[in-house]
Amino acid sequence: MRKLLVRLYPELLLFPDREAANEALATANREDRSHWFVVMVTIIILICYNILLRLFPHPAVYSFVPGGVLLLTTGLFPTLCWFPLLRRNVRRALRSQLVKHGIPICIPCGYDPTGNVSGRCSECGAPVQKPVPNA
Ligand SMILES: [Zn+2]
Repeated sequence: MRKLLVRLYPELLLFPDREAANEALATANREDRSHWFVVMVTIIILICYNILLRLFPHPAVYSFVPGGVLLLTTGLFPTLCWFPLLRRNVRRALRSQLVKHGIPICIPCGYDPTGNVSGRCSECGAPVQKPVPNA
């Protein structure tokens, strides 16, 4: 499980210890609101599907698609779309927590700005955030 998490969120390895990394991941997941994306898209697809069924009660187009497949895809499609979005948001949240821990990292791209003098990330051009050590 730990290996999978580190592969999905390589930022976890940069935290001073495992406990800090777990806490940061929990905070990042809690703060993320993109879960609503799945709920909203699923509801929208189900509403559209129901409207279509009412407009065309027995269309030939549905005859070769079992109902279960449609229900499965309405849940699966938003989940597949949502995961990269969730991962991006969580990685950004982890990077901003690394900056709070005093570890230099570019929040948008994850590049290490150590030794950077221009004040802009040499990888993505975003302004470099100065690490603020915890008081
Ligand atoms: Zn960058």
